[in-house]
Amino acid sequence: MVMQTLPALTEASVWRALEEIPDPELPVVNLVELGIVRAIRFNADAVQVVITPTFAGCPAYEVMSEQIRARIEQEGAARVEVVVRHDPPWTSEWITEAARAKLKAAGLAPPPRHTGNLIQVLLEPVACPRCESTQTSLRNSFGTTPCRMIYTCNNCLEPFELFKPL
Ligand SMILES: [Zn+2]
Repeated sequence: MVMQTLPALTEASVWRALEEIPDPELPVVNLVELGIVRAIRFNADAVQVVITPTFAGCPAYEVMSEQIRARIEQEGAARVEVVVRHDPPWTSEWITEAARAKLKAAGLAPPPRHTGNLIQVLLEPVACPRCESTQTSLRNSFGTTPCRMIYTCNNCLEPFELFKPL
C-alpha cells in the first residue's frame, strides 16, 4: 500500500476538521460551535476528542462519533478515540455567537443567554427570529425534537421554533 503524505496533524488542524462536521439534528451549525467538542488531546498513538452531547441519551451520539473518527482519520490520524464527558453537562451557554446567528437565519430562535439563571430566562418573552417582535406565544413545549419549543409570532403570524435554553 502506498502511503499518502499528509500535512502534520496539529491541534489547530483537528479543530478545523471538526468544524466541518454538521450537527446531525441541526445541520446549519457544526459540532464545534454548538459546544459539543470540549477538548482535543494527543496521546502517544491516538488523537482523543472529548465530546459532551447536548441532551442526555442523544440518539445522534453514535453518528457523531463515527463522523468524528472518519474525519480525523482523513486528516492522517492513525487512531482516533472519542471520549464522552457528561460532567459538566452540556449547556446552551456553550453555543457560540456565530452559531446563534446561523440558527436564527434558519428560522430557529437561538436559546437565550441565561448565565445559570434558567427560570428567569424562561419567563422572559422570546423574540421572533423573522421580525424580532417579542409579541410571541408559546404553542407547544415540544417541537419537532425534544430540544425545541413551538411559538407563534403575534406580529408576523408565523410559527417558529425555539432551541430550548439548557
Ligand atoms: Zn415575527
